[in-house]
Amino acid sequence: MTDAAQEAGIHTGRCLCGAVAYRIAGPLVDLGACHCSQCRRQSGHYWASFDVAPGDLTITGMDNVTWYRSSESAERGFCRTCGSFLFWREVDAEAFEISAGSLDRPTGLHLEKHIFVADKGDYYEIADDVPQFSAGGPKQG
Ligand SMILES: [Zn+2]
Ligand SMILES: [Zn+2]
Repeated sequence: MTDAAQEAGIHTGRCLCGAVAYRIAGPLVDLGACHCSQCRRQSGHYWASFDVAPGDLTITGMDNVTWYRSSESAERGFCRTCGSFLFWREVDAEAFEISAGSLDRPTGLHLEKHIFVADKGDYYEIADDVPQFSAGGPKQG
């Protein structure tokens, strides 16, 4: 990403293979690390994601995204070629949460919260000063 693009508030990101990419023309908000068992199983560790306003998001390669319905209310999108876990949304909702790890640097983001820490893996400790919530925690933005 160019400095000019960053100054204009444009962020970009993609999956590992590049078949799915996105562009965001607006703020990235509510960056949280989710320690729930679903995020752990799908991502391999805990999963950090942020929210964007639906109108700010342009996705290319959406036909390469497979949606997995992980619960009654939520589904998770991943690249069917490389397996990158990119998106979480409430079923049929327009708003996406997007994997922070898929963003191109610099992101300008700082982790705001750890959520679902009651479900976290037993092989690591959370050793930073970021607020922790046993379940979902507060939503912003
Ligand atoms: Zn991919
Ligand atoms: Zn989770």
